[in-house]
Amino acid sequence: MSPVEIPAMPESTTPMAGELSAQALYEKCYSLSRNLWWTWHPEVTSIFRDLDPIRWRQLDHNPVSLLREFTPDRLATRASEMVMHSRINYAHRRLKEYLANKQTWAATHAGVLGNKPVAYFSAEFGLHESMPIYSGGLGVLSGDHVKSASGLGVNLVGVGLFYDQGYFKQQLDDAGMQTEENLDTKVESLPMEAALSPDGKPITVRVETRKGALFAKVWVMQVGRVKLYLLDCNVDGNSDEDRELTSRLYGGDERIRIRQELVLGVGGVKALRALGIRPGVYHLNEGHSAFGPLEVIRERMHDDGLSFSDALREVARQTAFTTHTPVPAGHDRFPGELVEEHLGPLRDQLGISYDQLMGLGRVEPQNQAEPFCMTVVGMKISRRANAVSQLHGHISRRMWAQLWPWKVEEEIPIGHITNGVHIPTWLAQQMLQLYDRHFVANWIYRMGEPEVWQSIHNVDPGELWETHNALKNQLLAFVRRRLSRQSRRRGESDEVVETARNLFDPNVLTIGFGRRFATYKRATLLLTNPDRLAALVNDKNRPVQFVYAGKAHPKDEPGKKLIQQIASLRKDPRFASKIVYVEDYDMNVCRHMIQGVDVWLNNPRRPLEASGTSGQKTVLNGGLNLSILDGWWAEAYDGANGFAIGHGQSHANDEITDKRDSEALFDVLEDQVVPIYYERDVDGLPRQWIKRMMNSISTLAWRFSAHRMVMDYARTCYVPAAGGLSCDMSGK
Ligand SMILES: *Cc1c(COP(=O)(O)O)cnc(C)c1O
Repeated sequence: MSPVEIPAMPESTTPMAGELSAQALYEKCYSLSRNLWWTWHPEVTSIFRDLDPIRWRQLDHNPVSLLREFTPDRLATRASEMVMHSRINYAHRRLKEYLANKQTWAATHAGVLGNKPVAYFSAEFGLHESMPIYSGGLGVLSGDHVKSASGLGVNLVGVGLFYDQGYFKQQLDDAGMQTEENLDTKVESLPMEAALSPDGKPITVRVETRKGALFAKVWVMQVGRVKLYLLDCNVDGNSDEDRELTSRLYGGDERIRIRQELVLGVGGVKALRALGIRPGVYHLNEGHSAFGPLEVIRERMHDDGLSFSDALREVARQTAFTTHTPVPAGHDRFPGELVEEHLGPLRDQLGISYDQLMGLGRVEPQNQAEPFCMTVVGMKISRRANAVSQLHGHISRRMWAQLWPWKVEEEIPIGHITNGVHIPTWLAQQMLQLYDRHFVANWIYRMGEPEVWQSIHNVDPGELWETHNALKNQLLAFVRRRLSRQSRRRGESDEVVETARNLFDPNVLTIGFGRRFATYKRATLLLTNPDRLAALVNDKNRPVQFVYAGKAHPKDEPGKKLIQQIASLRKDPRFASKIVYVEDYDMNVCRHMIQGVDVWLNNPRRPLEASGTSGQKTVLNGGLNLSILDGWWAEAYDGANGFAIGHGQSHANDEITDKRDSEALFDVLEDQVVPIYYERDVDGLPRQWIKRMMNSISTLAWRFSAHRMVMDYARTCYVPAAGGLSCDMSGK
């Protein structure tokens, strides 16, 4: 897209007293745009937005692209006009101070990592909507992990893949069918640079397979204090086909998948070595990177003359593995031929047989019929393994019990560290300001501590309610904008577009549902009883309105059917304008939704939601969770800090489960959620509801923060794995 013409403005290239030269100002904005630190500082984000609000939105909130449309002079003119010089100066100084500050939590609690960083491997990183190298929850979790590691000063580097087409953009056609459009992300529009070796040369890693080598270049992105390295196969030396290997997330077949995972794991370890980085700890976030430790074993055998089994033991001591998948079928498995084709050359160097290698990826090492499972090798190659919620810990121990046939279930060495979210990323600015007014000074540096959040009970209920409603209005404005745009794109009548512009009433209870449309998440659970749903949304005095959003994997036909069912409700007079679907769920849509809804709905089929994190984002902003007792909610709900659907029971089969859960969902909506929301006192305030908001914030915000999560990883995995004081987390 070409830059939009801006109206002529008076030339003012000579700075006024106290103002920076145009060049200096531009450089400050430029350096702010090159560190993703800006993504969790709303006051910095607003600098970019204020430079050109329209282009900002059109460019997907990408400051690198935005600045490319400015000359230093034009930037200076605009900054003077908007009186932004001191804001820019101040932001720039804060970033510099942040990077220089050595007095962090980790300096006193994880000092052993001082010169031996944690290498954190993940197939996706969700850092911001302008960086489309994530698809959903796993990626956003990795992004939040890296941001909190930065905040806590944990010495950590991220390792991932650069997808130049990212994950697809979603549109729905008239019939509600999902269509997918690939992006074409330009490297120049991202805050990435070629990563350099210690002698200043760009790095390309080479990974051998039985059918020739694969090459990947290495990019580096700065996330606060943390460096994130991304491997990219679009380089000379690769065949045309292999150049596209890292184009798309989860787009390919089994063969593409194993090649991506080879590049991520083995290529990632090679990249770190070429960079001169010697990690003290390897953290595999999900099984995709679990080939990596095999390359570390090769290094140890080569460097230190260890035998394979001694090197394996040493490397396992340094390695932590996090599993995210409670469904057996959800784990990556590869047939022997693909493993041999891709790991064969490394296996030769390790001096192990085909059967030995395959045995590492099998529950029963001798079972020739068993494929190679990335989770199994991840577990066998790491001393510390964990699930991502308490309930998921139980499920995982049961699921993988055969790996330790001599142990009883409680002794299976898989612990749990429940996921959390990066508070500054997901907290609305208005809520941040409210907390600033009422919490202890510098609370943001102590956000993982429970005491800090108790102060929410001292906030005036009216003030909290008013802040929440301001955020709700922002969400409704966003929904209207998106829905009218969707209507216009589909070529609908002016009348329909106009209706979309005036959708929704801010006084009506608003429930949000946004997530991947995997079938186990049961997005259509409410539709199992359309009459009861119609009664809810059309109640004269106490109506309810719903916002849905989410993508289905391109190959997930049943998931797409669910989207279609919900999107089609706009053609049913009982539900039109009451239940809407916002296209193209991403971090931006998610942020608007979780900041503005009254209630966040989550109704997966228990126990298939390993943790879930979107509900944790809602908590921070005063929304209440209404959820099945699954994932994080099973350990979070205390009876007064949100709403539970059912009692966490299991039933004979899916059909019965869905029926019971649907009834339980309607029951809690009709008997608790709706009445409590609409019960107002003389001041028009829903006192009981506000009480629940306060309970939710005080009991949950710190516990389900990424700061608490990363501190748990540091204490129970990283520090002991790096050779610090031992502290075993198994069976926690
Ligand atoms: C937080 C987030 C998720 C995770 O949602 P769950 O409901 O926990 O699965 C997925 N996608 C995006 C874009 C997110 O921001």
